[in-house]
This record gives sequence, structure tokens and C-alpha cells, in this order.
Amino acid sequence: MTAPKLVQGYEVVIGFETHAQLSTKSKIFSRASVAFGAEANTQACAVDMALPGTLPVMNIGAVERAIEFGLAINAHIAERSIFARKNYFYPDLPKGYQISQFEIPVVQGGEVSFFLEVGKETVRKTVRLERAHLEEDAGKSLHEDFIGQSGIDLNRAGTPLLEIVTQPDMRSSEEAVAYAKELHKIVTWIGICDGNMQEGSFRCDANVSVRKPGAPLGTRREIKNLNSFKFMQQAIDYEVRWQIDQIEDGHTIQQATVLFDPDTGETRAMRTKEDAADYRYFPDPDLPPLLIGRDWVERVKGEMAELPRVMAERFVKDYALPEYDATQLTQSKAVSAYFEATAKACGQAKLASNWIMGEVSRRLNASEMAIEQAPVSAAQLAALIGRISDNTISNNAARQVFEGLWNGEGEVDAIIEAKGLKQMNDTGELEKIIDDVLAANPKNVEEFKAGNAKALNGLVGPIMKASKGKANPGQVNALLMKKLGG
Ligand code: ADP
Ligand code: MG
Repeated sequence: MTAPKLVQGYEVVIGFETHAQLSTKSKIFSRASVAFGAEANTQACAVDMALPGTLPVMNIGAVERAIEFGLAINAHIAERSIFARKNYFYPDLPKGYQISQFEIPVVQGGEVSFFLEVGKETVRKTVRLERAHLEEDAGKSLHEDFIGQSGIDLNRAGTPLLEIVTQPDMRSSEEAVAYAKELHKIVTWIGICDGNMQEGSFRCDANVSVRKPGAPLGTRREIKNLNSFKFMQQAIDYEVRWQIDQIEDGHTIQQATVLFDPDTGETRAMRTKEDAADYRYFPDPDLPPLLIGRDWVERVKGEMAELPRVMAERFVKDYALPEYDATQLTQSKAVSAYFEATAKACGQAKLASNWIMGEVSRRLNASEMAIEQAPVSAAQLAALIGRISDNTISNNAARQVFEGLWNGEGEVDAIIEAKGLKQMNDTGELEKIIDDVLAANPKNVEEFKAGNAKALNGLVGPIMKASKGKANPGQVNALLMKKLGG
């Protein structure tokens, strides 16, 4: 473990609460659709509007997604959990309470771990989860379209959410963002959430506090509804500086809920934070306890696709990859499939990994493309790697061939031919070039023989140049040594 990074002598402490919208067709306690973007109130049924006499009915699909999440993060899945009413008054909450889980959540414990770049080092960080519980979303107040009045849209009311709560384990905004990205990867990989942050399918609340190293936890402020990774980092960095300034100025931090304003880059207090007691939680008498037998959990487990961390372990074992590579290559299903196809086709897993994490991802990033859109197929990349390992082309030439592939200039061999990139493997031809260069640079030869190893560089350069970059550097070195008796 590296020591936590300090900001002006303070340690930063962050815990996350994330609301992941579960990708069911209908709501958590009613049959109304959850499709995004419908006309206001066309997807709110009697249950969602809280008409008298209606009762909630549990959506099994939502429970199954919670089980999948629990399995994905190695958590305990409660055999018996219960729903509670969280009471508060707000116009978009027609029942006057939100159905949530309080004392006994369905998913308990578990952890999320990921890699993080700290300076030049890559370190693994594990964040412990406290719980994940099922709950319903509220509706929405519309302030835009009504002169002097607000409207209420209940389409979102009753949308199934999984609220995922961490322990206060993160120590910097970088760790927080890396955690959120990893969590996002997990929920989209297992397909329980579409992960669309703009549409609000994946919303993060960051609880932030600061303290002097070794001191008890400081008072936290909760930044609500961070819906982009960029804003998340900005908001936390601002909040940390603000809290430190307050403390340094002799003020104490009051627990509060704050909002981040992307326009000013500042966080602003929204309300002082309620305590659990303010919500008067009590078990919802309309819903029986949620019972999940081991057989159900086993069936769900059997139907789940290979998890990213399991796949990463397999990549380490089957392809002898470093753990770091394996984790990078399991960033998404598409990346892992591209890697496996390339590695199988060329039989050089480490080279495939280097190319995908290097050149391929550099080009994808530069053109803001996903790997599914890459104009270079796994088969083409494998063919290219094959031409490097059979010494047809040098690494440098391979980068030019890759550019050609990317720009649709044809297949690997055709591009090598067209650009004249074939490496010089004819020893006779190469020896002639070397002899000429040695004859033209007697001073370097002398210096090298006198023990100055660096003098060799003055010979390799002109040789590569005379061969128009087509000489194999390894072969050049070997021949030089032979001729110079080194
Ligand atoms: P609440 O009941 O208000 O939701 P919780 O105890 O459930 O509060 O904690 C909510 C989140 O805040 C959790 O992610 C937890 O890790 C985090 N948290 C708790 N205390 C602190 C603290 N002092 N600093 C930063 N985060 C904290
Ligand atoms: Mg909470």
C-alpha cells in the first residue's frame, strides 16, 4: 500500500452512493413501461400515481438483476430482505413515501477492485461495498413549460433502482472516478443497467470529507447526481478545496447536501442533510419479505456470462498476460472479444495485447470511436503481428502498415508491398551496406575498438539510413559485432 495522497496536509475521504436504473421492461411494483423519452404521464399507471386501493407487486426481473449484481461483486445475497417506507413530502412523490430497503438490504458486503495509475506506478485498489438495495425512483417536477406553475411527470415514478453504497474507502478524486468507472463497467457488462449517464440511468452521489491523517472521520457533505466522470472529478476537487479552506479559516463543516454547477465549477448547498430518523422508516405492510432461496441464486449464477474479473484471471492463465494487461483488455466485452480473436489468430498474446492497448486504443481515442467501429479487424491486426514476428517488417514499418489498414488502403501484405516496407533479410545486400559504412567512418570504428560502446550508434544510424529503414536492427547489430570483433 502506498501512503494516501494528502491535499495541503489533509486526507480526503470519499464514499459513494450510486443509483443504477435496472434494465427491466416494466416498473418495480407495477406493469407500466419504463421506456425513456415518452410523453409526460403516459407511462404512469394507477399504482405509480398512488391512487387509493392500489397495491405494489414485486417485479421478479428487478430482483434477479440485484442477485446478478451481488454475484458479480462477491457479496452476500440475503435469503430474506424486507422493504421499508421512506417518508418525505415532495410533489413528485404522490404516495408521500418511497419504497426502499432499509434495515435488511438484498445485497450485503462485496467489493469492487480496479487498477489506478499513481505517478509512474500502477496500483490495485479495492473498495468495500456496504450494501446494495432495491428501491423505486420518484417522478419529476417540470419547471420549464408552465407559466408561473410547475408540472409533474410521473413516468419515472416506480422505475426500478439499485442503490449501491460503498464504505468510505476512497482517498482521492482519482480513486473515486476509477471506482465509478469500474462499477459502470460491471453493471453494463452483466447487463443489469444500460449505463446511460445523460439519461440518468447511472447517477452517483459522492460523500466527501477531509481530516488530518490519523484523526477520526470528518463531517461529510454529499454531492448529488454526478452524471459524468468529468464533472465527478471537478466537483470532488472543488469540494475538497472548499472544505479545507473552511477549516483553515476556523469554520466547522456542517453536514449538507450540495449540487455541482458545471457552469461555475462550484458546489452549492441545496439543503442541510436529513438524518435517517427524519424519514421515519418502517417496514412496508403492503409487501411481504423478499425470499431468495439458494436454488434461485444458483440458477442465476449458471445463466450469467463470464464476469470481467473471472475473464481477466483466465487471460492471465491462458495467455500468460500480466495482470495489468488482462484488466485493461476486459474493460468491455467488445475489447475482450477483439483481443481473444487477435491472440488466437496470431498465437502471440502479449504482442496482441501491446498493440491493442497501444496503437489501437490510441487511434480509437483520437477519433472518439468504440472498438466495435475500428476499421482494422482482429484478423488484420493478427496478420500484421504475424509479419512482425516472421521478420518481414520492423516494428516501425508495422506502425505505417497499421496506418494503412486504418485508412482502408488494403490488406497487410498489399500495404507492405505498396509502401516498400519489407525488411532487408538478404544478408549479402546488408553486408555490402555495412562494409561501405564502416569504410566511410574509420573514426567510429577506431573509437569502438578502443572501448567506446557509444561509437556504435554513429554506425547503426547511417546503416539504417542507407537501407532506407528496411534493415533488421537485430541483424545489423549481429553483423556489426561480427565484423568489429566485439
Ligand atoms: P446516509 O444514511 O446518510 O445515507 P450512510 O452512513 O449510509 O449515510 O453513508 C452514506 C455514504 O457516505 C456511504 O457511501 C459512506 O461510505 C459515506 N460516508 C460516511 N461517512 C463519511 C465520511 N465521514 N466521509 C466521507 N464519506 C462518508
Ligand atoms: Mg444512504
